[in-house]
Amino acid sequence: MRSQIEVAARRAGREPDSIKLVAVTKMVEIDEIKEAARAGVEAFGENYVQESREKIRQVEQAKEWHFIGRLQSNKVRQVLGLFDLIHSVDRFSLAEQIQKRAEQKELIQQILIQVNISGEETKSGVERDEAITLINRVKGFPGIALRGLMTMPPYFDDPEMARPYFRILREIRDKAEGQCGISLPELSMGMSGDYQVAIEEGATIIRVGTAIFGPRD
Ligand SMILES: *Cc1c(COP(=O)(O)O)cnc(C)c1O
Repeated sequence: MRSQIEVAARRAGREPDSIKLVAVTKMVEIDEIKEAARAGVEAFGENYVQESREKIRQVEQAKEWHFIGRLQSNKVRQVLGLFDLIHSVDRFSLAEQIQKRAEQKELIQQILIQVNISGEETKSGVERDEAITLINRVKGFPGIALRGLMTMPPYFDDPEMARPYFRILREIRDKAEGQCGISLPELSMGMSGDYQVAIEEGATIIRVGTAIFGPRD
């Protein structure tokens, strides 16, 4: 996996070390996660709160956990402080809840804003026209460190088809940095089928499940 990331990075004229691999472990057994950690994977991504709490407790070898799934406001209390990065903040009410709980726990939660670039109704994410407004409303929260943006393009058989979505996310990020006066270094984009293209378009975090653990049931 790491060597394929290196190839894609070098092709794009980027440092391989500037790209973080998050191994996505939804529905993956604990023993398999431990094996991946032993093989050198440092960061793991989970979609479901219940499932992840058990895994985080048991897989001590993991260095980082990322929350990448849809997050309900009433689950914020359970995830806060458990995850190094929450990728899926897509509405102001959720950010408010994170801010409130972070203050109570006296911690700073790192987050990304998830943007729905395709406009598909089944996808989470703030609409692309509203991303900058949301960033502006969240950036001053003392309990939140806003690190960047995340997106999930529609599924395509041909990864080249995903390229425009990755490019648009980068452009929104560049525009937001200018208009909001903050730095947004992280772009979480690219999955098993399209991470090479995402790296070429500037991904700093890729979220890969199937290509590491095989197909999910
Ligand atoms: C499942 C999932 C992934 C990984 O998908 P693969 O195609 O298995 O690599 C990445 N991101 C999110 C948000 C996911 O839910």
